[in-house]
Amino acid sequence: MGFSPEDVERYARHLVLSEIGGPGQQKLASATVAIVGAGGVGSPAALYLAAAGVGTLRIIDPDTVSLSNLQRQVLFETADIGQPKVEVAERRLLALNPGVRIEAVPAALTSETAARVIAGTDVVLDGTDDFAVRHAVNTACIAARIPLVSGALGRWSGQLGVFTGRPCYRCLVPDLPADAETCARVGVVGALAGVIGSMAALETIKLITGAGEPLTGRLLLYDGLSATSRTVEVTPDPGCSVCSRD
Ligand SMILES: [Zn+2]
Repeated sequence: MGFSPEDVERYARHLVLSEIGGPGQQKLASATVAIVGAGGVGSPAALYLAAAGVGTLRIIDPDTVSLSNLQRQVLFETADIGQPKVEVAERRLLALNPGVRIEAVPAALTSETAARVIAGTDVVLDGTDDFAVRHAVNTACIAARIPLVSGALGRWSGQLGVFTGRPCYRCLVPDLPADAETCARVGVVGALAGVIGSMAALETIKLITGAGEPLTGRLLLYDGLSATSRTVEVTPDPGCSVCSRD
């Protein structure tokens, strides 16, 4: 598969990077990435991955656009309110890059559907703020050996992790928190979604192209109020019900 003159121009800034270049751009074009949740994290991630030329983006979200989304979910505009998020996302991403394929999945991901929904993808990017969904995605990714990029936000801080086996996301969050802090309840500064969503896209690009050292088995914690970040190792849980089976 070769690049058209338009592709060479569109991806010029990737093609000159030694860590991406022609072979890396080819890998991006051949890749399929699932984005679970077209929300604060999923919006910038989807925009950057479409712009980067990831061949197929499968976007999973059951919701319609609401006014309170627009403070941080940069895929959407005021005129989109009331429309299914995945349909708006498809239009917006194809307008940005007609060369990518969008698979719009207007449904909630559950433990019953997760394996089927992520099947055939090279990387899964999870930005939902629902722990049941996060655990379902993690279980399906570990079983199918698909790398998982997981981003989360709250108030002024965010976290990002990459899980490719052991430790997994459940090692980090073993149980469903009884009263999980959602952004709806505790608030979130909108620009933070851009920080974490963009870093999630960056880790996805690294996983696909083999560039650098992915955040595998580590957790990056970003504190927006102090503008500081730190990275900690995730400790494998010897009793983890997901990744300690093999
Ligand atoms: Zn685990």
